[in-house]
Amino acid sequence: MANGKINVAVENIFPLIKKFLYSDHEIFLRELISNATDAISKLKHLSSVGEVKGEIGDPRIEVKIDKKNKKIHIIDQGVGMTTEEVNKYINEVAFSGAEEFLEKYKDNTQDSGIIGHFGLGFYSAFMVAEKVEIITQSHQNTPTAHWTCDGSPEYTLEEAEKRERGTEIILHIAKDSKEFLEEARIRELLNKYNKFMPFPIKFGTKEETLPLPDDAKEDAKPDTKTVDNIINITDPAWTKTPSDLKEDDYKSFYRELYPMQFEEPLFNIHLNVDYPFNLTGILYFPKIQNDLNLQKDKIQLYQNQVFVTDNVEGIVPEFLTLLRGVIDSPDIPLNVSRSYLQADGAVKKISNYITRKVADKLSSLFKKDRKGFEEKWNDIKVVIEYGMLTEDKFYEKADKFMLYPNTDGEYLTYGELEAAIKDTHTDKDGKLVFLYASNVEEQHQYIETAKDKGYKVLLLDSPIIAHLIQKLEGDKDKVAFTRVDGDAVENLIKKDEATVSKMSNEEKESLKPLIEAVVPGEKYTIQLEAMDSNGLPFVLTQPEFMRRMKEMQNTGGGMMGAFPEMFTLLVNTNHELVEQILQTKTAKKRERLIRQSLDLAKLSQNLLKGEELTAFLKRSVDLIK
Ligand code: ADP
Ligand code: MG
Repeated sequence: MANGKINVAVENIFPLIKKFLYSDHEIFLRELISNATDAISKLKHLSSVGEVKGEIGDPRIEVKIDKKNKKIHIIDQGVGMTTEEVNKYINEVAFSGAEEFLEKYKDNTQDSGIIGHFGLGFYSAFMVAEKVEIITQSHQNTPTAHWTCDGSPEYTLEEAEKRERGTEIILHIAKDSKEFLEEARIRELLNKYNKFMPFPIKFGTKEETLPLPDDAKEDAKPDTKTVDNIINITDPAWTKTPSDLKEDDYKSFYRELYPMQFEEPLFNIHLNVDYPFNLTGILYFPKIQNDLNLQKDKIQLYQNQVFVTDNVEGIVPEFLTLLRGVIDSPDIPLNVSRSYLQADGAVKKISNYITRKVADKLSSLFKKDRKGFEEKWNDIKVVIEYGMLTEDKFYEKADKFMLYPNTDGEYLTYGELEAAIKDTHTDKDGKLVFLYASNVEEQHQYIETAKDKGYKVLLLDSPIIAHLIQKLEGDKDKVAFTRVDGDAVENLIKKDEATVSKMSNEEKESLKPLIEAVVPGEKYTIQLEAMDSNGLPFVLTQPEFMRRMKEMQNTGGGMMGAFPEMFTLLVNTNHELVEQILQTKTAKKRERLIRQSLDLAKLSQNLLKGEELTAFLKRSVDLIK
């Protein structure tokens, strides 16, 4: 038996470790199972090069809880360690690594930017255990070694009774970590961190129902058999070659990842690269909900099939955090802060690669199956728009497949749209004007008016569209986007020669002050227009710029400061009612007509509410009595 003193500067390691890693105690199990996995990988490797002779079988890992004696056992059938190796890897390396860790983080453990993965390794056992034992049998036929340490720098290392090849780690769980003696808690951890690890992990047993024999009686009960409960899937879909997988394999893997998710993904992207960095994974496009924040943080990050985090911020571009799936890369440095991560060259390359793959996939879907792409458009557009706004590389590619749906149910690309409207949709400054609606119900009347005049009206209704429109106007040559209820529409509609004014200039001059006397000037700019006599007497429009800035503010970004509510009140000089306003002799009737017309205009914009609405209803009843 040997006694030794671990070469660590601090007197008692484990209270320190506990303190430093307070929130993350649960990772001890992941670290120990990772070591067990490494030990099996090493054994397989040694066997394949002939250094380990004979059959190695199908090595596995077992996790056992001994609640009565307050112990957890982690047992593997890997390479094991000789006494010398325990000395070298546990007493010297592992602990010096821990010491280094303490040195490195003692000043900045409060930095919340540090990702909860430190690669602390074996040493993390002391976060939950007051005493740790290692019983290990090397694949070389040396004596079995038994190491014990209670977290103080003292350890014992002695020879133990001969065992099978492999390592058993015994954790004597500390009083304040009793939660880890609960089966449910351990199962939760195994499911979170180890669900897709490469070697079978046994945790307890389960009952399996045996099939009934063919000649069984009708009321026969099937037999059950107790079998090992293996908690993991050792060959998850992302580790396979794309050509070996069918559509159904991707779908069933999605269900493994999100058992509570009932909706099927729209399509997937298999990531697979080994140079200049190593990365595999599968990304899924889900149907995008309107609440973008609820949607985020569903991608899981793994390293060599070990779960690390589901916060991939800084690793994948912001707009792709709306997707789901798995990314597995050992090349992402994780023991650094997020801001460092974003500046890291390797991470930048990874992020660019993912962006390119997503753009290429969308592009090929668009080319191969345009109809299918159009059908999915409403569920994927937000990701595409978001990407175009935030990633220039993506913007360049997406410009070819970004679709602009219109109220006739067509989906056109920018190029197609431009060609379709370039002869008819130009304003007096020679700009190409894209008319759009954001809500078919609310803007119905405006849409109809524009369509009657022969204009195409786009249907752009995603929450961030104002930002994208702003960008497109900046990028494309001489184009403007105008919502159908915006004031610039008049520039287009005016071009329509058919609408000539029925009112003379003198009449117009006397009409304007009559309306101004009733309608508050600080909120409405009054403008007389000869419009369709079948339309409304008054029409409200809002300057496109103001409205858009406001929308951009609501969805983040845009200009700061409050924008006043400003409207243009178009008075339709061709309308019978407006004629009446001008001709009527009684001031009271005129005021009533003006108020009613204004309220109708508001009503059509969904702006009539509360007290005003009540007054309008009362007035309407009076008018028809
Ligand atoms: P790392 O895994 O990063 O090398 P650890 O602190 O987790 O660091 O482990 C230190 C070393 O101890 C390992 O590299 C390995 O040589 C040895 N070791 C730990 N656990 C086992 C095990 N279950 N079987 C064999 N060797 C092990
Ligand atoms: Mg390790």
